[in-house]
Amino acid sequence: MSLEEIKTRITKAEQAAGRAPGSVQLIAVSKVQPNERVEAVLEQGHRCFGENRVQEAAGKWPDFASRFDGIDLHLIGPLQTNKARQAMELFDSIHSVDRPKLASTLARLAQEIGHCPDLFIQVNTGEEEQKAGVLPADADAFIAECRGLDLPIKGLMCIPPVDEEPALHFALLAKIAARNGLDGLSMGMSSDFETAIALGATHVRVGSAIFGERGYA
Ligand SMILES: *Cc1c(COP(=O)(O)O)cnc(C)c1O
Repeated sequence: MSLEEIKTRITKAEQAAGRAPGSVQLIAVSKVQPNERVEAVLEQGHRCFGENRVQEAAGKWPDFASRFDGIDLHLIGPLQTNKARQAMELFDSIHSVDRPKLASTLARLAQEIGHCPDLFIQVNTGEEEQKAGVLPADADAFIAECRGLDLPIKGLMCIPPVDEEPALHFALLAKIAARNGLDGLSMGMSSDFETAIALGATHVRVGSAIFGERGYA
């Protein structure tokens, strides 16, 4: 599949859901992809990308940013507090805020640096042991805590369990966001982004459908 095809499918899904054209942002997830593939997508004019590791992003994006204007970079993977400063300098958005210690570190650094990326709180909608994210039952309190720290919380993010119907998880995330007055919904990947758009996604994170399978060599 190509970038153009994915964009067309997003437009159709927006239409089908009665949503405004352009209301869904496509984050092209470039983790582990060879630089030539990323560059090809940059050359087609796309500027919004997602990475799941700070280190990997730091190794390639400063160079791309020096050659392509207007890059909008999203961190979609877990963030350790000792990498928070680097992440805040590198990324325009962070989708994985999921615990009080990280929230307070980001708040302190935001004061120091004088700016903060847009933030999304990750919710572990499937309550999976191995997965990051605040539990659904703790989400309201954690959102309030982040707001108390003056963090720019734009929305919520989830990664549904691989073996479950994603729609249930997207609907749960949308419900938590709505009752907390949050507009942003980062949900939907290569296999389910149309379902996510039907349920209100504002940011879809699509990797392999744009770039091809990841090598993990
Ligand atoms: C890798 C990744 C994606 C993209 O997955 P694809 O199935 O390749 O589209 C989306 N979100 C997160 C958090 C990821 O780590």
